[in-house]
Amino acid sequence: MTVVERGIYRIEVTRELCKACGLCVAWCPQKVLASDDEEYPVVVNAAACVDCKSCERHCPELAIEVIPAIQAIGQQAGSSMPQIRFMHGNEAAAEGAIAAGCRFYAGYPITPSTEIAEILSQRLPEIGGIFVQMEDEIASMAAVIGASLGGLKSATATSGPGFSLMQENLGFAVACEIPCVIMNVQRVGPSTGMATKPAQGDVMQARWGTHGDHPIIVLTPSSVQESYRLAVRAFELSERFRTPVILLMDGIVAQLKERVELPDAPTVVVRSLPTEPPETYRPFAYVPGGVQPLAPFGSGYRYHVTGMSHDEFGFPTEKPEHVAEWRRHMASKIDDHLDDILEWEEYGVADADVVVISFGATARSVAFAVEQARARGIKAGALKILTIWPFPEAHVRAIAARVPRIVVAEMNLGQIRLEVERVVAGRAVVQGVHRADGLAITPEQILAAIIDGGSDPSPHLRESPHSQAATASRDRLGAS
Ligand code: SF4
Ligand code: SF4
Repeated sequence: MTVVERGIYRIEVTRELCKACGLCVAWCPQKVLASDDEEYPVVVNAAACVDCKSCERHCPELAIEVIPAIQAIGQQAGSSMPQIRFMHGNEAAAEGAIAAGCRFYAGYPITPSTEIAEILSQRLPEIGGIFVQMEDEIASMAAVIGASLGGLKSATATSGPGFSLMQENLGFAVACEIPCVIMNVQRVGPSTGMATKPAQGDVMQARWGTHGDHPIIVLTPSSVQESYRLAVRAFELSERFRTPVILLMDGIVAQLKERVELPDAPTVVVRSLPTEPPETYRPFAYVPGGVQPLAPFGSGYRYHVTGMSHDEFGFPTEKPEHVAEWRRHMASKIDDHLDDILEWEEYGVADADVVVISFGATARSVAFAVEQARARGIKAGALKILTIWPFPEAHVRAIAARVPRIVVAEMNLGQIRLEVERVVAGRAVVQGVHRADGLAITPEQILAAIIDGGSDPSPHLRESPHSQAATASRDRLGAS
């Protein structure tokens, strides 16, 4: 093998395989490569390489390889330099899962999440992990639960229709306090909808898709960098609170390619193990504000796991006092730690006359629109939600207490707007910018809402939030 050049990326050509066809040179968008006198590729501008891997993909002989040289150098020297990568959101989420210590994945490929499965099918076996393609999403979620009970940090990925199929077993994981991560890349629904078109329509399904009152944690990245970071965080929260965590991406963030800085060392999430002997172990102990460590099956701790209401030992119970205590425990393990769970970013809110609330890819348009509004002298601000469930109620309420107008921008017909209306409860006017037709909300649409008051201003609190939302939804559908 010949190392052709060293830059941020090391580009290697296996001369014995290369037939000097020039395809890698032709397909390099950065003009990193050129052909020498014999038509073999040479590197002429290594610093421009962005690791797009176009050269690799177009090489018919598998003769060229691009390796992050910083990673190799950093590992050799024990350097703390970050790895610079160019990747899309799905790849970042997959890499984040691996960095967090995920070693089991079961799933059924579905657009626009498929790359997560594709990448993990290659990466997990390389590092001693397990990848299983299941027959459907019901089985995928069941396999993830089983693997987690066996002691492996486990994940699956899907999109709308697959997420619907996972709901029953998702509820089982919630009830049995089994940590796992579900990456749902939202596309247009309902039903098959539009497979390749992005949406943010699964917000309420992520919250209430499985039946019964239950806690849930849902994270919403708005960039590729955040997809990586929040994937790691999803595992942290999942293990700490023994609960499924949903990484709720959208088709735009999942397919977007951006420069990402990965930490030099992975942030491995360590699962706590019980310290008490098996004889006294209570796997579902009602620990106030906390959880009992989960003993892996096969480690000498024998216990019962059931989706039925159960006591601290896992056996079914219908005693109201036990069920009530169990419910208090399930709620308090999340509610007592909101400061550690909730995450948002905001800018321009302190002196704002209008604040735009958004999440995911829509937050990118909002940032640009707020900048444009400020340039015109309009006091606009933005709140980008990163933990969407539990909803940051107190913070939104505090904003509403001092800002007269709130605009909610989301690629659905008003799901988070309904939540904002509930929380704001008349303290501020709430308006919405919504679309669910497979296209992104543009900065121009948001700017227009900041200036003119949104696509459908709603008179707040003259109706109940539910009837208000229904009316607004009908109006929007009628208008389109
Ligand atoms: S990875 Fe992309 S930018 Fe780098 S050499 Fe290959 S084609 Fe060019
Ligand atoms: S595409 Fe592959 S075979 Fe063709 S010149 Fe480049 S490295 Fe050689």
